[in-house]
Formats: sequence, C-alpha cells, structure tokens
Amino acid sequence: MPELPEVETTVKDLQTKVLSRTFVDVWTDTKKIVKKPKDFEEFRKQLKSKKIQKIWRRGKNIIFELSEDYSLLIHQKLTGHLLYGEWKKDRVNTYIHLKFFLDNGEILALSDLRKFAKVELWKTEELLEELEKLGLEPLAKDFAFEKFKEVLKDKRGKVKQVLMDQKVIAGIGNIYASEILWEAKINPFKGVLKLSDEELKKIYQAIGKILKKAVKAKGESISDFRRISGEKGGFDPFRKVYQKEGEKCPRCGAKIKRTKIAGRSTYFCPTCQKT
Ligand SMILES: [Zn+2]
Repeated sequence: MPELPEVETTVKDLQTKVLSRTFVDVWTDTKKIVKKPKDFEEFRKQLKSKKIQKIWRRGKNIIFELSEDYSLLIHQKLTGHLLYGEWKKDRVNTYIHLKFFLDNGEILALSDLRKFAKVELWKTEELLEELEKLGLEPLAKDFAFEKFKEVLKDKRGKVKQVLMDQKVIAGIGNIYASEILWEAKINPFKGVLKLSDEELKKIYQAIGKILKKAVKAKGESISDFRRISGEKGGFDPFRKVYQKEGEKCPRCGAKIKRTKIAGRSTYFCPTCQKT
C-alpha cells in the first residue's frame, strides 16, 4: 500500500501537472470505487467543471481542493496509484478503473489491480473536520518528541501495530513500520507501555530519518506503487528488512526473520532488534 512517502511523491508530482486544471468529465468501470456520493452519476455531475485549486496530503490521503468549496479525496489503498498523461508502460499501470478528463485534454487515471481504492467528493469544511480524526503528521514541523510521547503514553499493543494505527500517527504502514523499527533497533513485538524514554526517542528519530529519506527517494515501488509518470520510486536500495526474510541484516549479519503481527508480515533482525 502506498504509505506517506509514496503519497507525498504523488501529491508533489500532481502539483506540477494538474494544479489549476478543471475536471471536464469522469469515467469508471468500477462504480464501487466512488464512495461519496454513492451514486456515480451524482458524483460525475458534481465534479464536472470544478477547478483544482490546491493539492495536499494528510496521512495516506490525497486531497484536491476544488472550486465552490468542494474537495476530492483519493485514498489509493492496497494497489491503487494515479497516472497522468503519457505514462510509462508497466504491468501494474494497466488496471485502469477510473479516468478523470481534464480541460487540457489530458487524463488523470487510477490504476488499481485490487479495486480497493476510495474516491470521495466532500464539502471542504466537512472533509477538514473528518481529517481531524487522523493522528499526528510525522513530517509536520510541529511533530515534536513531547507530542509523540504524549500520544503513545496510554496506547496498549505492540509497537509496530501502534505505529501503523492511523489515529495515532498518520501515514506509516507495513513497509516503513518495519524499516523504522530496524533503524531504531526495537523489537516490533515490544509493548508500547514498556518502551523507555530512550527507546521512544530512538523510534521518534527513526520515523523522521526513514520517512524523509523515502520522500527524497520518491517512494518504494516493490509492490504496485508508481509515480504519476508510471515510473518507479527510488527507495529500494535503502530498504533494509522489509521482504528480506533469510537475507543478512546489513548491520550485524544475522538472518532477517519474518513473522506476523495482527495478520501483517513483519520483518526484523532477531539479533539487533532483540528488545
Ligand atoms: Zn542485525
């Protein structure tokens, strides 16, 4: 699933290509992708002739602020990614289930193998209220250690699971939770309540370091994520543990282990992430 760095990459790419464009029409062969309004024809009618005034990210959500106080929200979920113009041919770029037609004659398309993506049209004010339910933004200027400590202090559950809880911190998913905990040398099974201040600090620092590195590299394309040009992101050479089961830990040489936490594959080094 595209996580914060991938969504951030998409948003930055979109800002250079579709800002100030107007939606002329929209097509789909999978009406369930449009969740709000539920009736696709109604969605189509409301979206037509709205101009894109601002594009930003909150957690894993892409938000297009439109004219007349509307906002379009796209959550790419498991395998969705947006493509624009003449995108690069690639197997994962061929599952086009939604097309936005723009006033410059170009198409903004959603490729989504699993068809779990979510597209919603909101009144901007209502959407902003809804987004307040999300947790801290880990790349925001005000993401301070004290704030991070405060939101974690009464959280039950294993640290990896809590890092992936969008109501606690927004934007971290399975790939980066594994990478962050490896970087911080913390065992993914450790209960949040058992983390010392020093350990919390290490996790906090690793969050900033890993996410910034991944944003700079334009995201991870080990799965279906592609940039709007259809090209892959460049994080792969920096990936240390995720989907590296049986390979050597780049820090200590022990074999990377895979295990499951809450049904999700978790990768870690049993030697340097002992506690
Ligand atoms: Zn190791």
